[in-house]
Amino acid sequence: SGFSKLPLSENLLQNLRLLAYTQPTAIQQEAIPFILAGKDVAAQAETGSGKTATYGLPILQHIDGNVQQVQALVIVPTRELATQVREELKRLGKHIQSLKISAVYGGHSFSEEEKSFRHPPQILIATPGRLLDHLRRNTVTLQTVEKLVIDEADKLLEMNFEEELNQLLAFLPKKRQSLLFSATLPDKVKMLISQTLVTPVFIQA
Ligand code: AMP
Repeated sequence: SGFSKLPLSENLLQNLRLLAYTQPTAIQQEAIPFILAGKDVAAQAETGSGKTATYGLPILQHIDGNVQQVQALVIVPTRELATQVREELKRLGKHIQSLKISAVYGGHSFSEEEKSFRHPPQILIATPGRLLDHLRRNTVTLQTVEKLVIDEADKLLEMNFEEELNQLLAFLPKKRQSLLFSATLPDKVKMLISQTLVTPVFIQA
């Protein structure tokens, strides 16, 4: 398939075939090589563009299923997107043994989430307010995060999550890979990019 031209593992390629993803979308084609190479990437991408797999495939390629620590964090604006991203990443990563992917978000039992963190997921998807609650109560650590994704950045800022985002970033290691996806690029998003990403590659697909 067209995916086999991308430097993805044989396991991931086989999974994509099973899911009948035959051709990478434009954003996948352009961004995946940079993400796999460890670059910070800012991408203008709408829902439906295949943006979840764009960051999901490189994350899954680098996940260590044997290590029970949060290795990748995806910040999203809404619980709907949180569960959508979790399901897509589960589909893409179903070949990885003992892979745990969790989503935490407002309007859902805090104590259930806390209990689940006793076996930390390798990939955590979270809305900002709920994640901050966990960090303040020490139910989870983000010190082990290697990859950060800010998904739907314009929506996060429209929903006034700016302050929460800044507070969250303080819990992350400085040495990490950061990726940002946004349907639009208003000044506020550009500012977030320059504050959060290091010499990013810009991609518009
Ligand atoms: P997203 O933009 O990440 O919300 O993805 C939109 C939809 O496209 C989802 O249902 C994905 O499962 C699907 N999808 C993503 N990439 C591909 C692809 N390369 N081929 C076919 N379907 C895809």
